[in-house]
Amino acid sequence: MRYDLLVIGGGSGGVRAARIAANHGARVALVEQYRMGGTCVIRGCVPKKLMVYASRFAQEFEEAAGFGWTLGERRFDWAQLKARRDAEVARIEAIYRSNLLKAGVTLFDARAVLQDAHTVRLSDGSTLAADTILVATGGWPDAGPPVPGQELAIDSNGFFELAQQPRRVVVQGAGYIALELACVLRLLGSEVTVVLRAAQILRGFDEELRTHLAQELASVGIRFLAGHSITRIEHAGTASDADAFGALAVHMEHAGGTEVLEADCVLRALGRKPNTQGLGLEALGVVLDAAGAVVVDAHSRSSVPSVYAVGDVTNRVNLTPMAIREGHAFADSVFGKTPRVVDHTLVPSAVFTTPELGTVGLTEEQALQQYPQLDVYRTVFRPMKATLSGHTSKVFFKLLVDRVSDRVLGFHAVGPDTGEMAQLVGVTLQLGATKAAFDATLAVHPTAAEELVTLRTPAVRHNL
Ligand code: FAD
Repeated sequence: MRYDLLVIGGGSGGVRAARIAANHGARVALVEQYRMGGTCVIRGCVPKKLMVYASRFAQEFEEAAGFGWTLGERRFDWAQLKARRDAEVARIEAIYRSNLLKAGVTLFDARAVLQDAHTVRLSDGSTLAADTILVATGGWPDAGPPVPGQELAIDSNGFFELAQQPRRVVVQGAGYIALELACVLRLLGSEVTVVLRAAQILRGFDEELRTHLAQELASVGIRFLAGHSITRIEHAGTASDADAFGALAVHMEHAGGTEVLEADCVLRALGRKPNTQGLGLEALGVVLDAAGAVVVDAHSRSSVPSVYAVGDVTNRVNLTPMAIREGHAFADSVFGKTPRVVDHTLVPSAVFTTPELGTVGLTEEQALQQYPQLDVYRTVFRPMKATLSGHTSKVFFKLLVDRVSDRVLGFHAVGPDTGEMAQLVGVTLQLGATKAAFDATLAVHPTAAEELVTLRTPAVRHNL
């Protein structure tokens, strides 16, 4: 049978597109080579956040003493957590599958390769034909430049397979995934060294935010080796503990020379690249960019009219809510007679380190390029809970305001629940909120977020 739509990839974008298109009456098939739910459900957002929750108990236990608690012996069981986490992931995966079936989507558990502009070949040798093909194959951990011994390291996929907690970990990379996993391991008691080539973590985020978070992460005991590159990984010869890990020697170079670190686990998190290799796209004339991403127009249409692409494979904004939105807009546009484009600006996001980072809108550096009359409101304070817990962590809030229009252009924060705050501040920015509106909003007391509506004096007034 010929389908109206054939979706390659059962991740965030593909699943949403398939379901909505089917709801619009299209005959839809979806092909998934691994597990339904894709990166987010199987080895991304979901299992990651569960690990973050697990790790944060360690800090809560420490802080409890200041509030009069005496706790008994504490023991953490990595294998038990992994089993429970994996069961939860399997539960969500099953829901994804059943929701697709309920919507009337035909599922194929196979790898798909494009044969021509309307035909896909599956790994079992069969072919499927459709009027429209949606490529939603996501991304994959970037191996980076080849390094001898890199096969001894794991990537973020490997992190979720670890059967035991490694005691000494070297994390290479300083993007959000590297830092989140570093924090999980550190809070659970591992010794963690983050090796980064750059001078600072989190490229692309607000500069002050980067600095503040780096200080906070150092204070939870993460060691940073900035300006370092790993040149070689090898077995150290000596077995470390009586556990599954053989000791590794991690050779590094930096401006001042070379250095060797011993570790039980090297986790390389060097970014992600679009999953387009071997898909048959180039042979079909689908234009890819230098990073290998499918080049699409505002309607997610590729250079071949019957082939569309959404999500990480297009390397626009590589986050689950964006893949979902692109998938939904595609289905509405092509099968629902309601064409619409997705706005890729104003993206609220969080980094689930501990402390957490929340952000939405322009960074100070970006804002200054368009709005030279920029007021920067900033506050750094000790949260109320720390007064008794004795925790040294400080909350950081920054609000960027265009003096000409009074519009709030950006919100950047580090501290507990700032990811939740970014979601709500995002709504206000979407509405075009002014600083006067923030000022007119009554505080919720006592909260950390109330500091956002009581920012009176700019810390910096650019171009005045
Ligand atoms: P994916 O979810 O990657 O799905 C693509 C699917 O296509 C996969 O299931 C794959 O198996 C399948 N596939 C690929 N090629 C083929 C083929 N040839 N044939 C058949 N099937 C194929 N985002 C957030 O918003 N918040 C977070 O907190 C967050 N945390 C993350 C943490 C980690 C560790 C990682 C790795 C990512 C995280 N992300 C997070 C990013 C998020 O997971 C992705 O942006 C999102 O999953 C992209 O969805 P997608 O549909 O484009 O691709």
